[in-house]
Amino acid sequence: MKLTSPIGELKGVGPRLAQYYADMGLKTAGDLLGYYPRRYEDYSHVTAIKDLKPGSVTIEAKIKHVSGRYVRRGMHITEAIAEDKSGSVRLIWFNQSYRAGSLKRSQLYYISGQYELRRQHFAIASPSVEMASDMPLHTARILAVYRESKQVSSRQLRKVVQQVLPLTADMPETLPDWLIEEYKLMSRGPALAALHAPVSDQELEAAKRRLGFEEAFYLMLASLINKRANQSERAVPIPFDLQLARRFVAHLPFQLTDAQRKATWSIYQDLGRTEPMNRLLEGDVGSGKTAVAAMAAVMALATDRQVVCMAPTELLARQHAQTFHDLLMPLGMADKVALLVGSFTMVEKTRLRAALKKGRVGFLVGTHALIQEKVDMHDLALVIIDEQQRFGVEQRKKLIAKAGHMPHVLSLSATPIPRSLALTIYGEMDISILGEKPLGRQPIVTKVVPPAGRDKLYHEVDTQLAAGRQMFVVCPLISGTEQEDNAAESMYERLSARTFAHRRVGLLHGRMKAADKTAVMKKFVRHELDILVTTTVIEVGVDVPNATIMLIEQPERFGLAQLHQLRGRVGRGQEKGYCYLVGEGSGPPSRRLRALETLSDGFKLAELDLQLRGPGAVYGTAQHGALDLRLVPLTDSRLLAEVRAAAEGFFARGEDLLHYRHIAKMVKKLNNVTNLN
Ligand code: ADP
Ligand code: MG
Repeated sequence: MKLTSPIGELKGVGPRLAQYYADMGLKTAGDLLGYYPRRYEDYSHVTAIKDLKPGSVTIEAKIKHVSGRYVRRGMHITEAIAEDKSGSVRLIWFNQSYRAGSLKRSQLYYISGQYELRRQHFAIASPSVEMASDMPLHTARILAVYRESKQVSSRQLRKVVQQVLPLTADMPETLPDWLIEEYKLMSRGPALAALHAPVSDQELEAAKRRLGFEEAFYLMLASLINKRANQSERAVPIPFDLQLARRFVAHLPFQLTDAQRKATWSIYQDLGRTEPMNRLLEGDVGSGKTAVAAMAAVMALATDRQVVCMAPTELLARQHAQTFHDLLMPLGMADKVALLVGSFTMVEKTRLRAALKKGRVGFLVGTHALIQEKVDMHDLALVIIDEQQRFGVEQRKKLIAKAGHMPHVLSLSATPIPRSLALTIYGEMDISILGEKPLGRQPIVTKVVPPAGRDKLYHEVDTQLAAGRQMFVVCPLISGTEQEDNAAESMYERLSARTFAHRRVGLLHGRMKAADKTAVMKKFVRHELDILVTTTVIEVGVDVPNATIMLIEQPERFGLAQLHQLRGRVGRGQEKGYCYLVGEGSGPPSRRLRALETLSDGFKLAELDLQLRGPGAVYGTAQHGALDLRLVPLTDSRLLAEVRAAAEGFFARGEDLLHYRHIAKMVKKLNNVTNLN
């Protein structure tokens, strides 16, 4: 047998079963080895019958008194008594009439199953039974549990995987020997075998470490290669102008935080080099990334070259254009800012193109339209990508390609990814973190409100509206069925016609025409509306300092990070912000929602999300969907640091990918999903 042998060649697998495997994407022996268990059940500890406790148990015992009978409606029950030196216990099987005939007296068996209460008596229900003299497969060991299909059970999978495990013995090693030795890793073959059939917890941990290390290693290598490629490009350096920086800061309506200062300084140093900047500015919502981006832009504009800023929504692009315009005003550079969004008319687009041609526009702010429209930005010095996680690799590449040559790139992200994780999945970028909020910013008071508390809540918020504050009401859907009156449209009807008939209520959602959206948003910004009923369109970026209340309908429907992003829309000014999560059910709030009540730090929430929902929740965004990280413990910063050191060591030793075909293949695959150049 070889890794490429079809599954049909295995013992006990006929054409029919082979097809069921094929339906799961499993065709060869090698596919089976690559089908990692989802979890494990530990039946490895053999217990004396008198010491049995409810739960997963294994006993080593002989069988007495087997009997089978039919009970109502064709249901068959097999019962047996198992006995060891310490005592005896009842075994029960349902609809397995063959059991009675297959159990031999005086034969010693391993029996594994759930010890639980069955009709007033404790029994081991539906246990697996294997002869103690054989190598056990389903009993007395740590059992691999796989993702199953209707026709293929974990039991069935264990049987076939067992047959291909010998193939791991002479599987070639994929990592360099020095690396295996230095980081005390298991070799590949044994690690794969142990992953499917571990003999102990320790062995399983070692196997996971080895295979997880390998996954992360490829990713890190790919990142480093991209980083080196970027470093070998030449960008035009943007000289640092101290006077200009001072003037900009002097005109800011606030004091920069230390984190903003530090990030800006790193950016200025990057910009001064010929090596293109590729920096990620990561900061929780409201940490003030826009001001930092503006400071970067100012330096580039001062050299009379172009800057472009791409944002994921039209609302955000418009708002950014306005913010940059205002920030650049005191420096006499406001006129350089122009906007480009998809809803522009032909006339507007033509006018913009002409202005670009005459060199009047230095700072173009826009949406995806920036890459779709034919706009000439050949003299691009700096590319700013806001909410970078919202864009795919291809989109970012296209924008960067607009420059005649390599520009400096600054990516902004509000996804509060823990540093260790950021270093792995964004390994090719330098990272600046805005870890502190601007002074005077108060934490947002977050409360989970049961449905019964709705009226009282409306009453409370109305006093705040009366005091001149504004409120967002965020709904999970735009329109719903009759029963789902939590959809934005019906919520708007209800609030504007009844509950808040005495207030000015507006509606904003993604299906509205761009012009209408802009108009509504403008009204809200100018405080011509008190309440804005909306959807997650306002999730990113929208900045209305006077809006201090947010009411989120059906918060269970949103992810933790998303809820945190959403509530970041309030409490952006000096006033305290309030976020009410109006639940549906009458049960106690989930752990996730309670976490929002107590934690205000996006990074801590992200870590919790990682633990509760796994890495998919955090990196499952457009650009990382293709990453195949199955075993990397993304929360284990120690391991990730080791992997990084190993990847750096790979190049430091002068190793060449040409000598490692498998590594080269994996890196190439990952390159396509991680390459930001
Ligand atoms: P984000 O990081 O979410 O993009 P913004 O850049 O939109 O945050 O900033 C949020 C708000 O905080 C804006 O109103 C901005 O003017 C304000 N702001 C930014 N930096 C500071 C600061 N250092 N002190 C006070 N307010 C600030
Ligand atoms: Mg922002």
